[in-house]
Amino acid sequence: MRRAFITGITGQDGAYLSKFLLEKGYKVYGVDRRTSLPTTERLRYLGVADEVMLLDGDVSDQGSLVRALQTAEPDEVYNLAAQSFVGASWQQPVLTMATTGIGAVNVLEAIRLVNPRIRFYQASTSEMFGLATEPVQSERTPFHPRSPYAIAKLFAHWTTINYRESYGLFACAGILFNHESPLRGLEFVTRKITDGVARIKLGVAKELRLGNLDAKRDWGFAGDYVRAMWLMLGAEKPDEYVVATGHTTSVREFCRIAFECVGLNWKDYVTVDPKFARPADVPTLCGNAERVKVELAWQATTTLDELIAMMVEADLKRVGNERA
Ligand code: NDP
Ligand code: GDP
Repeated sequence: MRRAFITGITGQDGAYLSKFLLEKGYKVYGVDRRTSLPTTERLRYLGVADEVMLLDGDVSDQGSLVRALQTAEPDEVYNLAAQSFVGASWQQPVLTMATTGIGAVNVLEAIRLVNPRIRFYQASTSEMFGLATEPVQSERTPFHPRSPYAIAKLFAHWTTINYRESYGLFACAGILFNHESPLRGLEFVTRKITDGVARIKLGVAKELRLGNLDAKRDWGFAGDYVRAMWLMLGAEKPDEYVVATGHTTSVREFCRIAFECVGLNWKDYVTVDPKFARPADVPTLCGNAERVKVELAWQATTTLDELIAMMVEADLKRVGNERA
């Protein structure tokens, strides 16, 4: 039986990846950092909380990673742990650098110490393209990070490549464009919108306050994207791959579709609040996923309309239950 080890297992992608790998017959381990309340809600939502093995650890504490890897003895490590919210990275830049940047070095060093044959996946991001110099971004597009988060991710990205070139590790990086689901954090714009739509529809809220409505993102479904991570670690050679849908949509258009799901007009409820504008935003991202399609046979299967409908439906159910 193959064994996988996931940092960030309690996050959106960690939960979907756990379910995916369990279905593939893997034994799944993950590190769970110490918190005052349980963080297994997403794993429970997908019905896998009792099937994964959680070990104490934190990516900023290398000893904890070494002990966890010695216990799990994995074939594959997926480094998904991060302070992952761009907005918060201006408020907590040092923590973001430590977790999102140095955290990856800690995981790679732990792998070198425990077993350099372990295959490694780094959760890189389209945010690294930032103020992109090309309208559609591929593996060859230059990087121009625009936030402490994106800088930390770029550091981790190059560290991954460097460990491959220096030590021969099977180290891959997936440059994933935004991917969402009913398990997305509530502070991200997609989930903030679908949660807002549900609250307004059910009479719990009257308006939705957002920042830059012109921003455009290439949004896909997290459940599709975790498969690409696994495919990278099963490939013949380690590499970097852009993972995206190839379509870009504005925040404004996302609002329109989400409100339409419940028969409302977004213009009646959405207010622009400068509080949610960023010191330096990323205006538009759109990925060219041709390489992952040709080399690893991966392709997004969920459309944006399907994704938004799924998220609105889940939020209507959740907000409805909260009220009951
Ligand atoms: P989430 O924010 O949902 O999950 C982040 C995970 O990291 C959580 O499990 C969190 O634990 C954990 N974590 C945070 N700090 C530490 C720490 N110091 N030690 C150990 N674990 C820690 O992110 P996603 O699931 O959406 O994303 C997964 C990864 O992919 C992240 O690295 C993200 O930056 C990256 N990414 C995401 C994209 C997206 O669109 N979703 C796009 C491209 C890249 P806890 O539950 O305790 O908070
Ligand atoms: P990101 O691409 O990782 O930064 O994902 P987010 O979902 O946080 O933001 C996507 C885009 O939506 C960014 O350009 C934000 O500026 C924009 N946006 C507009 N209003 C909001 C808001 O209220 N919250 C968030 N999180 N983003 C917003």
